[in-house]
Amino acid sequence: MGEPMKKKTIMIWAFSFLAAGAFFSSEAKDKAKNKKGAVMQEKVVKSDAEWKKTLTPEQYAVLRQKGTEQAFTGKYWNSHDKGTYVCAACGYKLFVSDDKFDSGCGWPSFSKPISEGGVATQEDHSHFMNRTEVLCPRCGGHLGHVFEDGPKPGGLRYCINSASIELKADEAKKK
Ligand code: FE
Repeated sequence: MGEPMKKKTIMIWAFSFLAAGAFFSSEAKDKAKNKKGAVMQEKVVKSDAEWKKTLTPEQYAVLRQKGTEQAFTGKYWNSHDKGTYVCAACGYKLFVSDDKFDSGCGWPSFSKPISEGGVATQEDHSHFMNRTEVLCPRCGGHLGHVFEDGPKPGGLRYCINSASIELKADEAKKK
C-alpha cells in the first residue's frame, strides 16, 4: 500500500468512528429523555447586562451573583399560599406548595423539587463550607442550597431564597 492510500484508509476509519460516536451519543440522549418522561426545555442563556434589565437588583444579586437574602425577610419564608413556585428569572417550574414546610430557618423550605431532577445541583465550597448549591436547570440561576436535615422520608431541605422564585396560583384552584 502506498503512502497516499494509507492516509486515505486512516481518514476513512477516523470518519467511521466519528460518525458512529455521533450516532450512539444521540441515541443515548434519546434514551435519557424517554427515561425521564419529559424533555428539558431549551436552556435560557442571557448576558449579565440582559439579566440586569429583566431582574430587580435583589433578584439579580441572588440569581446571578449567588447572593443570599437575610433570613426572615423574603416574601415566601412564612407563606402558606397554594400553587407552583417558578424561577423568578425564566419561569421554569421548580417546586410546589404541597412540598413546602415550616423549617424555622427563615427561608422557604421544600422537601423536594417538583419532579425528580427538577432542579440542578452542584458542590459549593465557598465561605469555608461544603454545601450543595441548588440551581434552576433552565437558566442556571442560583436558588439556594440543599441540606440533609429535612423531614422524613426524603430527609432533604431545599433552602431557597424568596428572591429567586415566584408563586403562581394553580389554575385549577383559581376556579
Ligand atoms: Fe430559571
